[in-house]
Amino acid sequence: MSVREVKVCLLGDIGVGKSSLVGRFVHNSFNPNLTTTLGASFMSKSLTVDGNTIKYQIWDTAGQERYRSLLPMYYRNAAAAIVVYDITSEATFDVLQEWITELHRLGPQNIVLAIAGNKCDLEEKREISRQRGAEYAQEVDAIFMETSALNATNVEEIFVQISRRLPASTA
Ligand code: GDP
Ligand code: MG
Repeated sequence: MSVREVKVCLLGDIGVGKSSLVGRFVHNSFNPNLTTTLGASFMSKSLTVDGNTIKYQIWDTAGQERYRSLLPMYYRNAAAAIVVYDITSEATFDVLQEWITELHRLGPQNIVLAIAGNKCDLEEKREISRQRGAEYAQEVDAIFMETSALNATNVEEIFVQISRRLPASTA
């Protein structure tokens, strides 16, 4: 059986935890001293869901998050996108909404969209309610999870959900 390769890109404002989520998913670790350079590469990790193995090629944005013109480079040819905000920061939720709108307008057709409300371990600093995130995700037909790269909440789960939404392979 051949392994299916799937490109997924992570988008979202600087500091929301994109690189930390990738580190948690790929290495099952959390490095509180992550530097921006570490997020510059792309990484891969295989995941088997319902008997199908998918090799995820994960593209992390590398500090250019604020330059919207660079975005197409990340989502080009992507089968899925995980757009991340920080539940303790209203501003990151506002940016997320702009980027989802762009993805819908200009991104690949049928791209599987997931929204991650990260840092859900910081309940006492929360600015975006779970319901607000979930309602927005439903509006734009995206998978929704609140995640924590720090304590591993829902990190693998979001990839599992993406795997189930991918169109049947034509390979
Ligand atoms: P990026 O700029 O989106 O790649 O964000 P980073 O992964 O570099 O993380 C930015 C900061 O948030 C770092 O100080 C991380 O340690 C911290 N961070 C990332 N994910 C979490 C999380 O789930 N919980 C908490 N408490 N902090 C996090
Ligand atoms: Mg990063």
